[in-house]
Amino acid sequence: MDYHRLDEVGPGHGFGIYVHWPYCARICPYCDFNVYAAKDRDETPLIEAICNDIAAQKAILLRSHSAPDTLYFGGGTPSLISPAGLSRIIATVADRCGALRGEITLEANPNDITPQRLAEWKALGVTRLSIGVQSLEDDTLAFLGRDHSGDDARRAVALALETFPNTSVDLIYARPGQTLSAWEKELTAALDFGAPHLSLYELTIEERTAFGRRAARGELVPMDEDGQADLYELTQQVCESAGLPAYEISNHARAPELQSQHNQIYWNSGDWIGVGPGAHGRLTYGTGRNATVCHRRPADYIAAACHGRVGWAETERLGEAEIGQEFLAMGLRVAKGLDMARLERLTGPLDTARLAQLEEAGLLSRDKGRLALTPQGRLLADHVAAQLSK
Ligand code: SF4
Repeated sequence: MDYHRLDEVGPGHGFGIYVHWPYCARICPYCDFNVYAAKDRDETPLIEAICNDIAAQKAILLRSHSAPDTLYFGGGTPSLISPAGLSRIIATVADRCGALRGEITLEANPNDITPQRLAEWKALGVTRLSIGVQSLEDDTLAFLGRDHSGDDARRAVALALETFPNTSVDLIYARPGQTLSAWEKELTAALDFGAPHLSLYELTIEERTAFGRRAARGELVPMDEDGQADLYELTQQVCESAGLPAYEISNHARAPELQSQHNQIYWNSGDWIGVGPGAHGRLTYGTGRNATVCHRRPADYIAAACHGRVGWAETERLGEAEIGQEFLAMGLRVAKGLDMARLERLTGPLDTARLAQLEEAGLLSRDKGRLALTPQGRLLADHVAAQLSK
């Protein structure tokens, strides 16, 4: 790909660092992430490997990337990392990559949130929490295999908001048998917490999870697509009326400055260093854009990311078509849509007949040089992106 086109993606459009912490107190039956039971493991070897990996990946980038905008601790359950471990990673980022310019987000389980931990996280420079509440109903939380109750979640969010006004709450809906009125009540109760950001995900049943195996045996019946679509539409209405419109398919914020800065980097085809077992990254340097994937098993990752070496299991130089498709699929996720001129500089002219068809079908809209999904189009985002990349 020529240098001119490469300017349309990469660090000029945001640069972040994603840290994947793969351990959880227990494994939820719906979870499809790269996770392992925490047990009584010593965290030190993994913290050391992550720090090594950050330094090694940044060294490869030479001077092509200035200081990162964001640092995101995801997982898994990164709220299980000790304050000393978090401090070591944050200090490594500052030392090797330069002083962060934006937010530091920590995903947290409700049961890990205590006044002491909140004070420690704040002192370390964390600016934003993303709390895995998932539901406020005790029987649903038990069904989802979570180790907290609805009251635990309420208490955790109220405490967190005192220290981190920019706290996000995650909920899962479209659960088997969930009714519109039950979800409306639960969502309204969650909005009453006053958190300025919500991430609302539909439950997806993945084959290789415990739920997937139960579904295959006929013991669990996933919600059908029509039911999911009804709940999605209700979600949009309730959140909009509460002043938290969707700024992305699953994400809602009270104001633009309260949107996730880190996730914007993904949606805007910026660059990010991915570290930790199974973490993915995108790095644009030299003459190309590269997809990186770290070793999935913690032991393999720890063995790889030492003595100045990166923890990658694979890297792939992305071709022009892949870069364009990714830009399109990610850019369409945000409510403001994507910059059409930028897309055309990456992919060449768009198929105007196909664009017109999708507009006529009520799935896409064009305004002031931007291309966006309509509310109906958001239900079929992957289909629309696939149609446009043909
Ligand atoms: S806590 Fe989150 S990351 Fe861990 S197993 Fe449950 S859903 Fe997966």
